[in-house]
Amino acid sequence: MESQLHIYNTLTGQKEPFEPLNPPFVGLYVCGPTVYSNVHLGNCRTFMSFDLVNRYLRFLGYKVRYVRNITDAGHLENDADEGEDKISKKARLEQLEPMEIVQRYTLDFRAKMADFNTLPPDIEPTATGHIVEQIEIIQKIIDAGLAYEINGSVYFDVLRYSEGDEYGILSGRKVDELISGTRDLDGQDEKRNPIDFALWKKASPSHIMRWSSPWGEGFPGWHLECSVMSTKYLGETFDIHGGGMDLKFPHHECEIAQNKAAHGSHAVRYWMHANMLTFEGKKMSKSLGNSILPDELFTGDHKLLRKGFHPMVVRFFSMQAHYGSTLDFSNEALEAAEAGFKRLMNGLDKMKSIEVGSASNLSVKDYSDRFYAAMNDDFNSPILISHLFDLVKTVKVDGKEKTVLTQEDKDALIQLVHGFVFDVLGLKQPEGKAEAGDEKIGGLMDLILEFRQRARTDKDWGTSDLIRDRLKELEIEVKDGKDGAAWEIK
Ligand code: AMP
Ligand code: ZN
Repeated sequence: MESQLHIYNTLTGQKEPFEPLNPPFVGLYVCGPTVYSNVHLGNCRTFMSFDLVNRYLRFLGYKVRYVRNITDAGHLENDADEGEDKISKKARLEQLEPMEIVQRYTLDFRAKMADFNTLPPDIEPTATGHIVEQIEIIQKIIDAGLAYEINGSVYFDVLRYSEGDEYGILSGRKVDELISGTRDLDGQDEKRNPIDFALWKKASPSHIMRWSSPWGEGFPGWHLECSVMSTKYLGETFDIHGGGMDLKFPHHECEIAQNKAAHGSHAVRYWMHANMLTFEGKKMSKSLGNSILPDELFTGDHKLLRKGFHPMVVRFFSMQAHYGSTLDFSNEALEAAEAGFKRLMNGLDKMKSIEVGSASNLSVKDYSDRFYAAMNDDFNSPILISHLFDLVKTVKVDGKEKTVLTQEDKDALIQLVHGFVFDVLGLKQPEGKAEAGDEKIGGLMDLILEFRQRARTDKDWGTSDLIRDRLKELEIEVKDGKDGAAWEIK
């Protein structure tokens, strides 16, 4: 019996059994990137975490509609509705059209996501493609008496909202504390209360990205696009909303308030937050100057790196931590992940050589139960990986304690392991490297080792060593044992 999937819901602070609203369909919305620069490794970790969620839900047989937006307007430099729009600023600095910036970094983002073998979303809506819907929802919130227009901008009235609802329900913040924590802007702030947030901002004459609205020319507030696009494609109530932990407040708190004000429901049933990638304990971010780009990591071309790593090693590194825990980046941790990843891939190859017999001396069901139990426990990939390593260690293809499986069990084991390693964890054999299990490679290796054995029988040690050394240069290690030579791709 497979256990049931439980998800840690950040809204309730509890691990809850996952019951989709309309099974077998699952609606999954994840906040996408703001496309004003290349995604760094921290961003990628969050998207790999939700790729694991998406993959496992599909693996369980759910029909997932995965929506991940592209923020191409409205994200200002700070959370207090001040500063420049990040995309407009980059466009101004580089003397490009904002949409050139958007296109360049959207393409970069998609390419990196493909490098990390993440499945693309089913819908990838953009903020600029949903201005009409955003204007409509603002009007609804104004009509509900929970937003006000002033000088061509529209703000959400947090105090009014908190008379009937709890603003801070997700992040645990209290309105009083938020008010006392805001800066005094010497009356410059046009908001009724400094904790109100923008739904629509009037565009200054120099602001390039602007649209007409009932309140004049302007642009939408960043929080609004996610409320609009999630409910447009997944319904006014939907299953899972994810994002990085740093988006809990204010972004997701504001989403909840907007949804409640516009539709009367909080919209999201399970809130999931992925934790941060850190470097020496500090969040990896552009502004702290400690960010590493995926390409820098692949090539090793970065002052903090000792060498380059394959994208699958980086993905494996990411999967070795639970999505809800922080993960600290270091050369040592990556090198350890590299060794672990190779061990796992070699272990998979080894399974193909398991001896077939009339009875099995290993329980496939036992491993299957353990794999499912790990993933059903809030997508616990590190525990899954530890069970996979346990299996790899237990399986023996030679010696007295050799593993023997019936053909049926052997097929089931290989299918199970491939399912969890390739479909769920999203790993794949690095390209350019032959799969040791590949039939042609296997045949060629048998041939080469046969010639080497002949040389050894003739006491032609020079040829025997030459073959071994040349294979080593190709990262294929030959080990001589009492039952003959075995080989392994390193
Ligand atoms: P942004 O493009 O800034 O909106 O960020 C895109 C996503 O990356 C958001 O979900 C952030 O929470 C996430 N993110 C940013 N920095 C990190 C980090 N160091 N570790 C993990 N996720 C991050
Ligand atoms: Zn969002």
